[in-house]
Amino acid sequence: MNTMENRSFDLVVIGTGSGASTAAGKCAAAGWKVAQIDDMPFGGTCALRGCDPKKVLVGAADLIDWNRRMNSHGIRSDAAIDWKDLMKYKRSFTDPVPSSREKGMMKAGITPFHGQAQFANDATLRVGDYQLTGKHILIASGAKPAPLPVDGSEYLAASTDFLELDELPGKLVFVGGGYISFEFAFVSALAGSEVHIVHRGERPLEGFDADMVDILLEKATDLGITVHLEAEVQSVVKEGPGYVVTVSQNGTSERIRGDLVIHGAGRVPNIDNLNLQKGNVTRGKSGVAVNEYLQSVSNPRVYAAGDAAATEGKPLTPVAGYESHMVASNLLDGNHRKAEYPAQPTVVFTIPPLASVGLTQQQAEDQGLDFEVHTNKMYSWYSYRRINESHAAYKTIIEKRTGRIIGAHLLGTKAGEIINLFAMAINQGLTSADLKKMIYAYPTHGSDIPYMV
Ligand SMILES: Cc1cc2nc3c(=O)[nH]c(=O)nc-3n(C[C@H](O)[C@H](O)[C@H](O)COP(=O)(O)OP(=O)(O)OC[C@H]3O[C@@H](n4cnc5c(N)ncnc54)[C@H](O)[C@@H]3O)c2cc1C
Repeated sequence: MNTMENRSFDLVVIGTGSGASTAAGKCAAAGWKVAQIDDMPFGGTCALRGCDPKKVLVGAADLIDWNRRMNSHGIRSDAAIDWKDLMKYKRSFTDPVPSSREKGMMKAGITPFHGQAQFANDATLRVGDYQLTGKHILIASGAKPAPLPVDGSEYLAASTDFLELDELPGKLVFVGGGYISFEFAFVSALAGSEVHIVHRGERPLEGFDADMVDILLEKATDLGITVHLEAEVQSVVKEGPGYVVTVSQNGTSERIRGDLVIHGAGRVPNIDNLNLQKGNVTRGKSGVAVNEYLQSVSNPRVYAAGDAAATEGKPLTPVAGYESHMVASNLLDGNHRKAEYPAQPTVVFTIPPLASVGLTQQQAEDQGLDFEVHTNKMYSWYSYRRINESHAAYKTIIEKRTGRIIGAHLLGTKAGEIINLFAMAINQGLTSADLKKMIYAYPTHGSDIPYMV
């Protein structure tokens, strides 16, 4: 006997994160019958297992660092992180999200489904006991940790596990030198743990400016973080209450002990469990293969957005939201909005943060552009001396012929904010002369901008 219940919708959305929600909401507001599915608590990665909870921890670690820096400069007490208490505070942000999202969906007239969605055919998704047929389907299923071909990879904890730790272990090993490892490593070190980062390549934080990364590495060393470069993890073995990570580096082998070993070696689109073949949905190199309208190249009723879509967009929350917006426009008014991206700022929330937008020096060189580089350390500038910040630097890339800003790379306490101004400058085609003739509030980190260009 078939106990499946069949339901029909104008739009069925897989996911409840940033890539899903804007499109679902806009289509529902336009009177479409919309369903939204998630096999995890509603809200997506950013709000529950990514950006938002992470930044609560980073904020606390930042306070510890600032406190230490000011210790002999008028601040006496030695602050410390109470991990349990901090996690309780973190949960005050994450715990309410799933139910408030679901209530919001119901209010918007969206029908929520809990469970794993899989294509049954090109128009239908199976979710538990339901078969949901959609005139249109949006895949916004996000990303997951990349599979690591390492013996003992089953012992690796994921970023989600780290963000749920009730107690912070004394010794942590991060596998991979990407932004998630670095952010968590800085938090852990400032919370008192011994921290190792093991990175296979010559340079961690690939994609960020190499000179800025070098200065950040000095700060990591100052905090007692050991970064092993050109070091390949061979195996992870359980030993007693902890683990031993065997690493090969320059032909020698080293054993690093840790109470917890965390996967920070990149994320890949979370599309393996969708049964894409049955849905006639082709995969690209980095997710669902889409055309310029974010529509599947093989199944026109399917669109994709966010980390699951193979686009030029970076796997970041605001980009997922931007793509979801594009999908909504194309669904509601027919394909007309092409996936064209403004400069996408990105930040590693270490302490201090490292931020980047536009071209790196290397990319400008590779493109054969005629440009000048302005770069300097800033720790002796008033903005940084005032807070006794010893690691601050910038690099800006300026096109010679036009004077336009084409890239900015910042390391320093407010880099995550200032980078938005550079993103605006790049997207509006502003020149160094434009930025110099502005009046900035003083004393602020923004008022340093004229000296960076
Ligand atoms: C630790 C961490 C820190 C991060 N920090 C930042 C940051 O500081 N800034 C930033 O911009 N970005 C950050 N990101 C990246 C950001 O979280 C993602 O780019 C963003 O959440 C992507 O949104 P999305 O909607 O594409 O996917 P998600 O938000 O991941 O949503 C996808 C949803 O689909 C669900 N799903 C998947 N498969 C199925 C299925 N078959 N059936 C039903 N449901 C399914 C998943 O459970 C998930 O809830 C971080 C990510 C991590 C992991």
